[in-house]
Amino acid sequence: MRHISIIVPVYNEEETIASMVEAIGDVLKDCLYEYSILFVDDGSTDLTLDIIKKLSVKDSFIQYISFSRNFGHQNALKAGLDKANGDCIITMDGDMQHPAHLIPIMLKKYEEGYDVVYTIRKDDKKLPFLKRKTSSLFYSLLNKLSDVKVERGSADFRLLASHVAIALKNLTEYDLFFRGLVKWAGFRQTAIEYCSEHRTKGTTKYTVRKMVRLGLYGILSFSTKPLHFAVYSGFLFSMLSLLYLPYVFYSYYFGYTISGWASVIVTIAFFGGLQLMVLGIIGLYIGRIFMQIKNRPAYLIRETNIL
Ligand code: UDP
Ligand code: MG
Repeated sequence: MRHISIIVPVYNEEETIASMVEAIGDVLKDCLYEYSILFVDDGSTDLTLDIIKKLSVKDSFIQYISFSRNFGHQNALKAGLDKANGDCIITMDGDMQHPAHLIPIMLKKYEEGYDVVYTIRKDDKKLPFLKRKTSSLFYSLLNKLSDVKVERGSADFRLLASHVAIALKNLTEYDLFFRGLVKWAGFRQTAIEYCSEHRTKGTTKYTVRKMVRLGLYGILSFSTKPLHFAVYSGFLFSMLSLLYLPYVFYSYYFGYTISGWASVIVTIAFFGGLQLMVLGIIGLYIGRIFMQIKNRPAYLIRETNIL
């Protein structure tokens, strides 16, 4: 019998664990697969881990990995991929926003021969305005700047055939951005659309800071185009300064050279700002090289029931 590993990263989701298990059980009860649910506890500080442990004593198909601290959602996904050993692997959020009833549809696509079945959240009006706007801005920027094309509304709710999961877990990238990496990997992919459920319990664990980080590092991981900005802007401004030269000579010739303090200050301020910005962009990339070269593990495990 074929086996599905369902990976669920959870960070302070004590209110939804039990209903997750129930919802998954409901949709998979008549299907021809065995399944296990692997909860990756990303350093929760509430009762999340206790609840998972209790459930795992009762049902052996419930597994867990618990991190030593909060390492972030993408690293939790990586831990799940590292440990899961099903014929296919499904990753989904632990807050019931990824509807479990899509799982049979994903499995059907998998049986049709697809290696990756990913999902796209339809732009529904239920989501907060700011989240919708920032997310669509992020995807259009990412797609303009990088070679991988990630659809707007892509979610970390997907099915991967085991050979794709193995390919992904062997990557040694530092800041992971699975939505891009899965696209980058290729294989036979197909998408299904879904309407995101309301988060009925708990609150979002993606703070603005975490979202900006994911977005920024997503772009930095998949594109070096921001670095081109330095070259283009440098070239543009040196051309412009050439145009300025005749005026300088003219002023010098007619003895106007004392005036012009304002234009000097404005130019210094402008180019100072531009240089800092370009240095900052270069710095971001160097910072990432620094983090990568240290080769620290993406997460540390405190306890697990996986042998
Ligand atoms: N999550 C996590 N670590 C974090 C933040 C979030 O494991 O540092 C989990 C969270 O428990 C949930 C999933 O990632 O299962 C998606 O997070 P959330 O629902 O808070 O994000 P949103 O749906 O608001 O984008
Ligand atoms: Mg959510």
